[in-house]
Amino acid sequence: MSEKYAGVIVDISHEKVDRPFQYKIPERLRGQVVPGMRVHVPFGRGNKDLTGYVVDLSDEADYPEEKLKEISCIDENAITVESDLIQTAYWMKRHYGSTIITALKTVLPVRQKLKQPEKKKIIRRQGKEEIERQIRECTRKHQTAKARVLYALLDEEVLPYALIREKLNVAPPTLKSLEKQGIISIETETYYRNPVKRTPGREAAASLSESQQSIIDDVMQEYRSGRPGTYLIHGITGSGKTEVYLGIIEQMIRLGKQAIVLIPEIALTYQTLLRFYKRFGDRVSVMNSTLSRGEKFDQMERARRKELDVIIGPRSALFTPFPDLGVIVIDEEHESSYKSESMPKYHARETAIQIASLKGASVVLGSATPSLEAYYRAGRQEYKLYQLTKRLTGGQLPQVYTIDLREELKEGNRSVFSRRLKELMEQRLAAGEQIMLFLNRRGYAGFISCRACGHVMKCPHCDVSLSEHRNGMLACHYCGYEEKRPPRCPSCGSNYLMGFRAGTEQIEEAVHREFPGAGVLRMDADSTRSKESYEKILSDFADAKADILIGTQMIVKGHDFPNVTLVGILAADLSLNQNDYRAGERTFQLLTQAAGRAGRGRKPGEVVIQTYQPEHYSIVHAANQDYAGFYEEEILYRELLQYPPAAHMLAVLVLSPQEDAGYQVLEKFARMVREMPGGQDGLYVIGPAQAAVAKINDLYRHTLYFKHADYEKLVLIKDLLETYGRQQDFKNLTIQIDFDPMNHY
Ligand code: ADP
Ligand code: ZN
Ligand code: ZN
Repeated sequence: MSEKYAGVIVDISHEKVDRPFQYKIPERLRGQVVPGMRVHVPFGRGNKDLTGYVVDLSDEADYPEEKLKEISCIDENAITVESDLIQTAYWMKRHYGSTIITALKTVLPVRQKLKQPEKKKIIRRQGKEEIERQIRECTRKHQTAKARVLYALLDEEVLPYALIREKLNVAPPTLKSLEKQGIISIETETYYRNPVKRTPGREAAASLSESQQSIIDDVMQEYRSGRPGTYLIHGITGSGKTEVYLGIIEQMIRLGKQAIVLIPEIALTYQTLLRFYKRFGDRVSVMNSTLSRGEKFDQMERARRKELDVIIGPRSALFTPFPDLGVIVIDEEHESSYKSESMPKYHARETAIQIASLKGASVVLGSATPSLEAYYRAGRQEYKLYQLTKRLTGGQLPQVYTIDLREELKEGNRSVFSRRLKELMEQRLAAGEQIMLFLNRRGYAGFISCRACGHVMKCPHCDVSLSEHRNGMLACHYCGYEEKRPPRCPSCGSNYLMGFRAGTEQIEEAVHREFPGAGVLRMDADSTRSKESYEKILSDFADAKADILIGTQMIVKGHDFPNVTLVGILAADLSLNQNDYRAGERTFQLLTQAAGRAGRGRKPGEVVIQTYQPEHYSIVHAANQDYAGFYEEEILYRELLQYPPAAHMLAVLVLSPQEDAGYQVLEKFARMVREMPGGQDGLYVIGPAQAAVAKINDLYRHTLYFKHADYEKLVLIKDLLETYGRQQDFKNLTIQIDFDPMNHY
């Protein structure tokens, strides 16, 4: 890097990053100054000597050259904990597209006055037998909150107050009352004046299987010899992945290193956290959306001071400022929540790898159904792949039946339950076992299919399903192709060409109608507005307060329900019909996870997959729990059509108040790209076209997609767009860019 100008921010903090000041880089320092570095600059009228951080480099001066001051020198402590974060922000800006300010705001913690730098603990004051007696007592009196606390305290004498409050959802008065009864005591300690003593993990590691141990040994051996890498552990739920993470983290801590563990927010349950607390004691902390800004800041401070060894949280926990980071673990790495939905639209997996390379840390990814990306990179030796094939908790893989809904209709069954599913549900209800009904409701948007033969209306150019518009047209949101809605199925000629609509509420009504007397719980976006109600529904179901749990994809994660022996997947192919190249992958993942919920306990499980497309490879392979088979077919399709991970994709989304403005800008830009020198080689330009949701909040949405095997080529296109944006003044337009998008626009 030998840029001539640097953006410098003095006093770096989330609140103060609105404007970097541009300085000249003197000749002697060119090539040495990099983003994240601390430098001395003359500041203000009096040219006071201040230290600041370089956040950005450029070859263009924003002001007349003679008005710019020069950087004085590089600070002797040029590299700090912030340096890595700033460098990451700079990388994110380049790699994903956003302003440096937005990128900095993503990585820097909010500065907050340190009110309440204290922590409360709950301490059990009585013996185990007494606690057990109390649990029975509380259960009898239906004091469920109290019972939950006591249950948690059975194995643990001390638990963090925040954990009980947030994860067990227990209100302060309940805890007060337990304290009054002398069963617990609540203690406060200020951890700055009185730093937490190291409480060694009380629970010894499980004796590991040979394959678990060899993964840990391998990862650590490479780390110790200075070759930290990226590792993918592919193993079904219950195959011991978490135990491997714990083992690696334990060894990292022994080396004086810290660990970041990413978990999808929805899986951040009490049980998961407890496993980490039990192992590593107080040196573990959590980041999640329920923490206040102050609490988040405190966790960052503790990390910076090495008062923590492990932080667990969703995507944003990636930016925890650990001075000696040893490993980043990403559990359920295929989850789409790892991709940011606001600018910069970064992916936690790639960003983790970037941060790890700055810090010399390892990255460990785990999943039962790895993303195509991760598996593809593993195949190219960019990641090292490990397989864990056995379920350690016992229980066999469930028996799966695939039911063809077209046949059901032919035989005159118009219920949402196939005959097989109905029969098995009756058996379970009679036996007092539990049932989960999973409605695959992604891709709800009006795709059109034939009820008689299953034919789906698709775009002839893109292999995605067409969406129905009010004006009677079917449209492709990738390329803009349109056709009239045909009156009959073009495949079989029947009149049953229909949009599919069914919600969890309709399913609930059907259950009440066909199985009166069965206790039903329903979980969907409506019934779980708050995180508490989400956990409440799950714990009610775990406590056998209902026979049947109906839900969307939310129910396939989190808790284990040993008494669930039947899983019904209604309309398994719904998510196949999203006009989206990831539809097959998402369907396979959802079905595999949903099927995996049956038979976790001692009793064997059964799964019924109801579908209009029983022959679709996503469904066939999910029914066989065959990841490799699915991967082989899916990757072929991606390679053929140059979709990620076989190539890279850049989506440009423009929002505009006038109907045509966005379209015209994109059309002009597409032409500019085509005229780029060498721009055509291996480049696919798709669109511009109307976005899938054509208007939101009175803003029209248009998209333009680029595909290229070389990511850097797409970065050049992004840079061109930024330059174009600076030259033209797109007053009323908002332009968003998204590399390798997870969703269609
Ligand atoms: P995953 O993360 O793949 O779902 P876990 O690590 O949670 O798997 O392991 C599943 C269950 O098996 C847990 O209850 C765990 O305590 C137990 N377990 C893990 N490894 C072993 C082992 N080597 N021997 C016995 N039990 C184990
Ligand atoms: Zn198309
Ligand atoms: Zn048909």
